[in-house]
Amino acid sequence: MDQTYDAIVVGGRCAGASTAMLLARAGMRVLVVEAARSDTDALSTHAVMEGGVLQLHRWGLLGAVSAAAPAIIAKEFAYGGEVDTVNVRLGAKVSAFYAPRRQFLDWLLLDAARSAGAEVWNPARVTGVVTRQGRVCGVEVLRRGKRTRALAPLTVGADGRNSTVAKAVGAPIRRHGKNSGSIMYGYFPGLSTDRYHWAFRPGAAAGVVPTGGGLACVWVGAAGTLVRPSKNAFYQLLDQAAPHIAHRIGSPVGPLRGYPGQPTWLRASAGPGWALVGDAGCFKDPLTPCGITDAFRDAELLARAVINARGDRDPLRSYEETHHRLSEPLFAIADRIAGYRWSLAELRGLQQTINAMRPDVETL
Ligand SMILES: Cc1cc2nc3c(=O)[nH]c(=O)nc-3n(C[C@H](O)[C@H](O)[C@H](O)COP(=O)(O)OP(=O)(O)OC[C@H]3O[C@@H](n4cnc5c(N)ncnc54)[C@H](O)[C@@H]3O)c2cc1C
Repeated sequence: MDQTYDAIVVGGRCAGASTAMLLARAGMRVLVVEAARSDTDALSTHAVMEGGVLQLHRWGLLGAVSAAAPAIIAKEFAYGGEVDTVNVRLGAKVSAFYAPRRQFLDWLLLDAARSAGAEVWNPARVTGVVTRQGRVCGVEVLRRGKRTRALAPLTVGADGRNSTVAKAVGAPIRRHGKNSGSIMYGYFPGLSTDRYHWAFRPGAAAGVVPTGGGLACVWVGAAGTLVRPSKNAFYQLLDQAAPHIAHRIGSPVGPLRGYPGQPTWLRASAGPGWALVGDAGCFKDPLTPCGITDAFRDAELLARAVINARGDRDPLRSYEETHHRLSEPLFAIADRIAGYRWSLAELRGLQQTINAMRPDVETL
């Protein structure tokens, strides 16, 4: 027999788990379907920005995050020899950023969703949506080798950049990005610092993101498609983008990981019976590292629209409008940055614009 819920969330990482947590905390019956096994990592350099940290605080999760990752008190942007420092100013209650590993953060959020009453099917995979009279009313799921269905008036696609839900509902793409770069990263000891550090030189970028266990995530990026990550290419690019870091680091703990680059887009984020949050709705090039913070923002905007609907026949439309209004300018800047065809002066201006445009979702 089909099982019924108030909302089904497909994907249970930073976008899906936080959406499910907020809906369940409001008393809704929520199902999360997540294909990956618990405690697995995600491809990400996991720097959480202002809005995201404030949300973790409001959700009561910042204590657990700060126990797992060191406090970061500033962001540094090095343009050749010149460095801009942006100090953390998050108000009285929050004094630092954090960049916890995704194998910790995502599952902390999913546990919070579970504690709020959400049911979690994991591992289980959504293979398609169920529609009735042109409206999405549930999902088809492959779970423990069996096909089953779950039904709900709202299906949320939080299933990342290759979203099954977005494809199944035919979510129109509103903007295609023109550029994409590739990224390689690994974890290195001995670089302990209390700041995010990003460094840029023509055609190359690098960064240091301090995380738990005495390690820092060090990444390098360049235009075009990376075929396979290799130590040679990593050290060469690091030397090009950030010689001051290259001469300080030794060998990585564990393998290097690579993101080959992929086309980017901004989709319509809602329709009859469905909504998209996180990368499923807007996939930006990760050289502008705000996917986690934007996923949290989407979760809260969608949950707020649904919870406050009170008889509004189409709460998803207001979510779609706000999502588009907030996503489009950032998408355009992230696309320009991803092309690596900037001068350092132009890049500096673009990043100053981003730093000025990241408000806390509570104030929107
Ligand atoms: C190299 C790289 C570096 C990055 N660095 C940063 C950074 O420093 N800071 C930052 O903020 N962002 C960064 N990002 C972006 C960030 O990782 C993403 O924006 C973020 O992961 C999006 O979260 P999400 O929950 O939308 O999707 P995901 O994290 O992709 O999660 C989607 C989940 O859905 C599940 N799923 C998929 N299909 C199905 C299905 N059919 N059924 C059930 N489950 C399914 C998957 O198993 C997955 O767990 C980076 C990205 C990359 C590639």
